[in-house]
Parts: sequence; C-alpha cells; structure tokens
Amino acid sequence: MKDAAPQTVYLSDYTPFGYVVEDVHLTFQLAPTSTRVLSRIRFAPNPDATDKVFFLHGEELNLISAMIDGKPVEPVVTSVGLSCPVPEKPFVWEAEVEISPETNTALEGLYMSNGMYCTQCEAEGFRKITYYPDRPDVMSVFTVRIEGPHPVLLSNGNPRDSGDGWAEWRDPWPKPSYLFALVAGDLVNHSDTFTTCSGTEVALNIWVRPGDEGKCAFGMEALKKSMRWDEEVYGREYDLDIFNIVAVDDFNMGAMENKGLNVFNSSAVLASPETSTDANFERIEAIIAHEYFHNWTGNRITCRDWFQLCLKEGLTVFRDSQFTSDIRSAPVKRISDVIDLRARQFPEDQGPLSHPVRPESFQEINNFYTATVYEKGAEVIGMLKRLVGDEGYAEALELYFARHDGEACTIEDWLKVFEDVTGRDLTQFKRWYSQSGTPRLSVTEDYADGTYTLTFAQHTPPTPGQDEKLPQVLPIAVGLLNANGDEVVKTTLLEMTQAEQSFEFTGLASRPIPSLLRGFSAPVVLDRVASKEEQVFLLAHDTDAFNRWESGRTLARNSLIAMVRDGAAPDQAYLDGLAALLRDDELDPAFRALMLSGPSQAELAQALHEAGATPDPDAIWQAKETMADTMAQSFRDLLPKLAYEGKVTEPYAPDAEQSGMRALGAATLALQTRLDAGAAAQKQFDKADNMTLQLSALGQLIQVGKDTGAVQAFYDQWHNDRLVMDKWFGLQVGAAHPEVAVDRAAALSSHPAFDMKNPNRFRAVFGALAMNHAGFHRRDGAGYDLLADWLIRLDAMNPQTTARMCSAFQTWKRYDADRQAKMKAALERIAAQPDLSRDTTEMVSRMLG
Ligand code: ZN
Repeated sequence: MKDAAPQTVYLSDYTPFGYVVEDVHLTFQLAPTSTRVLSRIRFAPNPDATDKVFFLHGEELNLISAMIDGKPVEPVVTSVGLSCPVPEKPFVWEAEVEISPETNTALEGLYMSNGMYCTQCEAEGFRKITYYPDRPDVMSVFTVRIEGPHPVLLSNGNPRDSGDGWAEWRDPWPKPSYLFALVAGDLVNHSDTFTTCSGTEVALNIWVRPGDEGKCAFGMEALKKSMRWDEEVYGREYDLDIFNIVAVDDFNMGAMENKGLNVFNSSAVLASPETSTDANFERIEAIIAHEYFHNWTGNRITCRDWFQLCLKEGLTVFRDSQFTSDIRSAPVKRISDVIDLRARQFPEDQGPLSHPVRPESFQEINNFYTATVYEKGAEVIGMLKRLVGDEGYAEALELYFARHDGEACTIEDWLKVFEDVTGRDLTQFKRWYSQSGTPRLSVTEDYADGTYTLTFAQHTPPTPGQDEKLPQVLPIAVGLLNANGDEVVKTTLLEMTQAEQSFEFTGLASRPIPSLLRGFSAPVVLDRVASKEEQVFLLAHDTDAFNRWESGRTLARNSLIAMVRDGAAPDQAYLDGLAALLRDDELDPAFRALMLSGPSQAELAQALHEAGATPDPDAIWQAKETMADTMAQSFRDLLPKLAYEGKVTEPYAPDAEQSGMRALGAATLALQTRLDAGAAAQKQFDKADNMTLQLSALGQLIQVGKDTGAVQAFYDQWHNDRLVMDKWFGLQVGAAHPEVAVDRAAALSSHPAFDMKNPNRFRAVFGALAMNHAGFHRRDGAGYDLLADWLIRLDAMNPQTTARMCSAFQTWKRYDADRQAKMKAALERIAAQPDLSRDTTEMVSRMLG
C-alpha cells in the first residue's frame, strides 16, 4: 500500500479520543515473514470526548479477521487505519493481523536484526504491529503472550508465566502504545539486582548476543548508579520487579525507554576498554541514565500528544546532564553541552529547519526528534531552575510527580506546577516553548562614581513562519572582578524581561571587569565587543570555570576569524594566555584539553555566519591548519610535559580523571604529530592497549597521511567487531584531508563490510562525510552529490534515518552562490524522486522553503 498524501497535524486541533482502553491482550505468533498478532482490547466510550469516531491506526498490516463482542465485523480499511461502527457501551474488539518482520528495513514496528525480533514503537510504530489508537494520551495496561522457538521472550512489565515456546508478560502500569516492546531471540544476559529505597529487590538484566556478555559490566554499573541517583535526587523509586535492557545492532536512534524493557542500539550499551573509547563510556553512562530516568519523566507521566515531546525529552536530557555533572565534572559537562548545543542546535535554529521547542505543526513526527526539542528543551528547564532557585525547582518537581502521576500531560501542566509552587507568573517565560530562533544579546557598560551599569538589548532574528519576535525572559548570570582577579560581586542572576534593560551595581571601588552569562545561563548568542586584554584577563582569572573556558574560546574564534577574513596571523596574546593555562597543573586536565582543542570548522562557519559573513570552508580549514601548526611550534617545549605517556600507572578506567588525562594527551598528540610527521602517533598506536589510545593515534596517522599500515593493522585486528569497524569506517572519512574525504567515502561504501541496512554503518561513513566540513563542502560539489545519491538509495529502505541525515544540507543558504546552487540542486534531486518517503519529503521541502 502506498503512503497517503502527506497530512499536516496541528497542535491546535487536539481532541481526546472517543474511547478509553480498559485493557489490552496481545498474542504474537512469531514467524519471519508471517507473524500473526492477535489483539483483544476492551474499549468503553470516553465521557470526556465529544467526537465518537471509532478509528484505529494501522499501517502495512494484513487484516485477517475482526470481531466486536465475539461477532465478525467488516471495517473500512485504508492505508492508514480502519473505522467501524461500534456499540455505544463498553465492548471487546478482537483482531488478527499478519506482518512481516523480516522485510521491515525501516526498523519501526516489529523487525528482525541478526535473527532476533525486536520492536521500536515511538513515536508511531505500534500501528505497524496491530490496529490501535496509536496516540500517547490513550493509556492502558497490557498483557502479552509471545509464542516462538527462541530461548528468550521478553515484553514490558513483570513476567507472568512461561513454558516451552511461549512466555506471558503483564505490565501493571497503564502506558501509551509507543512504550510497548517485545524482544525474542537467542540472547544471553548479564544480570544483577538492585534494592530500592523501600527495600524491594529488582532483577536487572542486560541481554546481548552470545559473545558480547563481557561488554555489559559498565552499563550495569551505570544503571545501578542511575537508579540510586534518581532516588536520592528526585525521590523516584523503580516500580517493577524487573528491569531489562536489550542490545540490538540495527537501531535508528541511541536507545528507547520502553516500560521495563529498554531497547538499546548496541553502540549505546556495549563497552570494553579494548573496544570502546572514553567518550563511548561517557556516552553509554549518559544514555543508560537518560532511558532509566524516562521511567518517571516520560512513562509514569507521559505526553498528551507529540507536540509535547519536549515535556519528556527536555526534562530527561536535563536530568541526565545533572546526573553526569554529579558523578563526573560539572564544569566539563557544562562546557561539553554548550559545545554540542552550538554545533547542532544553533545551526538548526538559525536555518530553514528552525522550529519552536514545542512545534505547532508537523507532517512526520519522527522529524522532530531534534536538537531543539531535546537540547534547547533542556536549556529551557535549566533557565527555569535558575529563575525559581534550587528549592523552588525541587518543590515544583515534587508537585509535578504527585499531581500528574499516571497522566498524559502538556507544557501547560508543567509550567503550572512552577506557578503554583512559586507564585510566579510564567506567561512570558512560556515564549521559550513557542518562539523559535536564537536570541542575540548585546551589551554596553558604563561606570561612574562607584556605580557600574550594564545595559542589555535582546533581539531574535526572524525564523520560518515567525517574522515578529517578542522579548524573552533571560536569566543572565553575572559576576564582577577587580583588576587583581578578586570577585567583587559574586555570581548574581539578572532577570531580563524587556527588549532593552539596564542593571546597576553600586558601591564599587573601581571599574570592574564583568564576567557575563556565567555557566551559559541562557541559550543566546552574546554579541559583545570586549577588548582582547579583557578576554585574556578573564582567561587567566575568571572564577567561573565555564566563562574561563568561554573567554579562551572567544579569543580562539576571533583569531581564527581574523585569519580567515583578513589573512591575519594567529593571535599571540591568545597563544600566550593558553600556554599559561596549559602549564597550570592545578587545572583539571579535561578542562585543559577542552581549552586546547579549539573551535571546530563547523563552529567557525557558524560564527562567521552569525557575524554576517559567508563562510569559506577551504579558508576555514586552512586557518585551522595554520593555527595548529603555529601552536605546535610555539608549545614545542610544553608538549612533552602534557603528553599522556607515563601519566597513568593504574589499570585503565573510563573515569573522569583518567579520561581527562587521555583527552589532554590526545590534544597534545595532535600538535606533536605536526612536528614529527606521525612518529609519536605511530608509537602510541603500536603499543596501545585500549581503544582510546589506539583510535586517537590512528586519527592522527590518517590526518597526516601516514596511515596505510595502521589502517590495515586496525582492520586485521578488529574486522570481527561490528562496533569497532564502525569507528574504522568513520575515522577514515572523518579525519581525512578534505581533498580525499569524498573519494574515501565512495570507496568505503563499496567495501564488503559496508552495509547500508545498518544505520550505524551508514552513519559511520556518510555522517562522517557530512562532519568533515571542508571535505563535504568540496568546491566541485562532489560531497553533496555523493551524499544525495546515498540518501536517495537509503530512503527506500529506511526513511527515518534518511530524513535525519538530510539535515546535513540545512545550512545551504549560508554558503557562497556556487555552493548554494550545488547544495540546492542536490536537495532538488532528492525531492524529485518518485516514491520519496513522507519523512524525507517533509525535511527536503522545509529546507528548500
Ligand atoms: Zn529521551
């Protein structure tokens, strides 16, 4: 069946479903191309609904039979669902459908991956399993029976009964269909237990393919830490007898929070020192926490409709960031989050895909799992917490859980608990949910007679569909320093609500040096023309770790921009300031590593764009090269002191301390490689006994073009490990010289181990190409053409991953006319494909405007 013509759904059109679901019984008779799904669902008229149309979603289902109260019925079936006359009283709906998991390459609904069955239902995948009101405000308890020859048969909730070739599960917590999950396969488990704060023992399992059981210990520890943290910090206890995690190789996203049965992309859970980098470990810990935290923020309290996605995602990202800050380093986590926000969310919010944190319309909800909904959504919660204070936040969250447990909620419900607890009026603050675009904040300052005045002006440029913008509530954290670097005014929160607003600090002995927007207290672009002396001073003295990093970043960015635009030489004051900081052994190595790595090419392109210039990818690449060469020369004597070799004598641990030292080592090696043409990198590669060291060395060898032996050696060592091979594919493209990146991607796409059906492998090659800024934007357009070719091919199999990856083109309007024309042509070529998916059609047409 073909897709129906794309339909736009509007937030303002929400109406409740005409029926409530009292309970759901599902039976699965598993078979690769002919799985039977029998459903028995008790419906009753919904007293709160006026609209009594009985429509059940259903896509790509073969309806075998349907009955109401035991009598056969003949519903009207279309490509998107069915409708049927029903009694005006409670009734039982029974249906039998047939589906084909083996041929499901979209990885949505019930599909197969390496012989294992698994499901992905968020957002609207349950309708590919059976006919159902597949919307998050319809919540019900589920009983599931699975029949199949597999040793492991799993579903949500608690196990009820099992026998040879079957198992039954019952989930006592009412849930929407998007949280349904089923897994069946030949799996082995790493198990443990957790005793909750009220003394209940919970069985914990991580289920993996045989051979991977040695890669689960780290994930299990992360799970237990998350469970304890949520009890201690949010007072949230786990609520079933068992918690299962399953690793699957073919998965569109990172992981999924299905009730009691989280399904993880294997890259987001499997870890060992030999095969995973420090960054992998940290990401795994954060994703495990994220999915676990969804049990309360998402599952127990869910979303009324998909426009409210940030209700669960913004909050859960905020919670997982808090967790990481608590168990690792808070400043390092904040800096990393801001780097990520600027790299992914700012380009989105300043281009054709810009949308509010709570969108008001969509064609395909899968296209709104974005950096804006997730990361800006989390920033909005961070601002709210700053405004109401830690205690206000804690009380509001208590009320949120108490008031809304078991409900499907809205952003209005969320804000109301803050209003009720603090007495604040959040009407203006709510604009953060409805107004898209990145606010620009400018500032002027004045000092006279001991009074220092900061005058801020805010302005948000127009975004698609929103020409006029209103002032936002901006929490601006400010500290003031004197010339000795002493804090004369501690961090103070200014609350800006108007387009232009002044704030005074009185009783000062001399003109202070301001440290503005400490901790990045609001997700804005700060347009401030500060003197270089002041930036250098703050780099040396700021008492706010984030802003100390920020001043170094600003110096680096400004120097690189001057190099790109005016052919300037690298800024000596920046290099001197950086060297002083690198020499300071009191400073966390992770922090120094962040200082040393400098802005990416994409960040520079973004900064040039924000400054009203047209970014030239070749010039940006060249400037970064020159900067790195200059740093290598001028830090020559410092490098041996910063190198990793000999620093860690304990056995490998992926903790914050060791990872920080390795990160500093990797940044140092990058400079060293420019002095010794890869000698140190080769040495590190040859004796590396963990993936972090091995991969950073390989990256340097690739970058410097001395990689033939190492690339082969790495392949020989790891060709049987899928996750490590993803790194091998990705790094060869990501670290490649821009002139060869496209050809490498093309060559690797015909490597026998390339598999376009596996999203991780596809992203390894083509995601890396899109991230190799100068390589992707090669002047002749070969990068655009190659990516478009492959996206067109992938769309026929996996629309969701295709549509996500199309966003590589979202910045097309900011480049020179020639590149613009080539990117536009690539987008138009994708758009012109017959049978293009609804997902990709929406993305491409939004980008073309
Ligand atoms: Zn999430």
